[in-house]
Amino acid sequence: MGERMAAMAARGTLDVLIVGAGVNGAGLFRDLTAQGLDCLLVEKNDYAAGTSAAPSRLIHGGLKYLETGEFRLVAQSTLERNLLLANAPHYVKPLPTLIPIFSWTKGVGAALRTLFGSKSAPRSRGALLVKIGLMLYDFYGARHRVMPRHSTASRAASLRDLPALTPDIVATGTYYDATVTHPERLIFELVRDGLADSPRSVALNHVRLERAEDGALTVKSLAGEAAATVRPKIVVNAAGPWIDEVNAILGEPSRMIGGTKGSHILLDHPDLLKELKGRMIYFEADDGRICLVFEYLGRALAGSTDIKAADPDTVRCEPDEVEYLLESLRRLLPKLRFSRDQIVYVYSGIRPLPASDAKDPGLITRDHATPILEPTASRPYPVYSLVGGKWTTFRGYAEEVADMLLKRLSASRRVSTRDLAIGGGRDYPKTEAARQAWISGLAQETGLAEKRIADLFAHYGTTARIVAAHVAAFPADAPLPDAADYSTGEMDYLLRHEQVGSLADLAFRRTTLAVTGRLTARLVEALALQASEALGWDAARRADEIAAVRARLKTYHGVELT
Ligand SMILES: Cc1cc2nc3c(=O)[nH]c(=O)nc-3n(C[C@H](O)[C@H](O)[C@H](O)COP(=O)(O)OP(=O)(O)OC[C@H]3O[C@@H](n4cnc5c(N)ncnc54)[C@H](O)[C@@H]3O)c2cc1C
Repeated sequence: MGERMAAMAARGTLDVLIVGAGVNGAGLFRDLTAQGLDCLLVEKNDYAAGTSAAPSRLIHGGLKYLETGEFRLVAQSTLERNLLLANAPHYVKPLPTLIPIFSWTKGVGAALRTLFGSKSAPRSRGALLVKIGLMLYDFYGARHRVMPRHSTASRAASLRDLPALTPDIVATGTYYDATVTHPERLIFELVRDGLADSPRSVALNHVRLERAEDGALTVKSLAGEAAATVRPKIVVNAAGPWIDEVNAILGEPSRMIGGTKGSHILLDHPDLLKELKGRMIYFEADDGRICLVFEYLGRALAGSTDIKAADPDTVRCEPDEVEYLLESLRRLLPKLRFSRDQIVYVYSGIRPLPASDAKDPGLITRDHATPILEPTASRPYPVYSLVGGKWTTFRGYAEEVADMLLKRLSASRRVSTRDLAIGGGRDYPKTEAARQAWISGLAQETGLAEKRIADLFAHYGTTARIVAAHVAAFPADAPLPDAADYSTGEMDYLLRHEQVGSLADLAFRRTTLAVTGRLTARLVEALALQASEALGWDAARRADEIAAVRARLKTYHGVELT
């Protein structure tokens, strides 16, 4: 479990134990460590292996929350979106978004009813409603604005621009949101930044909260038998859809989460990408649900479903969800072909929404809440549960919770995270010309080819400088089989410096090889061989790791390696 953990266990006490390293746990860890608190973050799987790896990959202001009258959430989300574009420009990019409109006036009555508390969402949003929505969205997105305002286009102009679009439209609207290209890496960077800020703090993946007894909490490594006991002043339950399970471990059974499942598919579809031209289409499926499709790292990402579901450990994209998404695309873009053979990867996750009796899952609030269990005679620490929240708003949410914890510990805030760059977003060159110059400069410095540096820059932002130094010193650096934008020297860096505990960590989260559907049998073998060399795995461990990756791909991601 490492020396730092041993030192922390020997100290016994610490300020805050955070259970769960999704975006909420990692975001809070980064904030608290920046304030000088002594924190332990434990994650039973890998960083960002839960819901935080399963979103639509949007950093968005929440246009659809206008319908439910959640204006505070839109104001917070648009602000956080704008801040992330500035603080993590290496992974968060502007995303022009087109809304097809199918009538002029539909939906106004239903929208007004929803606004005043009705539990049925509008099934169709006409031009008038969309126009009002986009104007409001511009209004809320004004703080730290970095992207253009919305525009609208006639039917004829829209069809000229996007000929495959259904001719049933009457107009289109275009506005700007953002996408996160490497959500799993961004979470890892939050953890790494936190560790750099607080040398006494510890973050451990593949370590589970196991037991709580008389103020002592036992965390256990899943790889071996190592266990440690700590006595935190505060416990934060950031276990997302596992929150109730973790509260039960803490001796406080709860029913805080009423999750819904959402699935996505990724398609190898060059014709669709040509039509999209870097835009997202944000559209209504036949049942009135909002779906989306956009280019994600060379694939077309389409989602999502919204179905009540409870078990985050077994959630997966089922065949009827795949069919629902394909059929929605067929109706939206009738001139293009959509079929299962184009799908290269699927994924699913559970939205950790607050428990609710709403009939339409789309109407359950996406806002967050932090229920607090005050200390008891047998439990000397309070438990703060981080319920709900969006990927987009993690920083603001972390700030809110950190302020509560600081107050409780009679400490004060030293640093605001509002303008704090994350990981490889630090000193990020601002213009295209500056980025080009940065890449050329590093190529000269290291002797690596410009193309290689450009790939590293795309993968890591300005942290590419550190990775490039490792690659330059790595004997016989070579492109990976079937994924030439990654190299052996780069994998060696990730394996040795990024807390890789399993082959899946490398294939699914430190790189985008799995999610882009590029894993092949020989690539998995090559990665496993390198991992064995870097991490000292024997032949049996290597075989187990390969088998685990194959099984995960097949069971949860619709990929069978031949
Ligand atoms: C389909 C879908 C689409 C979405 N799209 C978007 C989007 O486009 N934009 C957006 O802003 N938001 C989106 N969201 C919402 C967002 O992804 C989630 O709200 C957010 O990721 C929740 O993060 P979390 O940290 O609370 O939970 P998680 O990421 O699930 O993290 C909880 C962690 O706790 C760990 N854990 C559990 N039990 C233990 C234990 N005993 N010991 C140690 N660790 C434990 C788990 O392994 C897990 O990693 C979407 C969600 C879904 C499901």
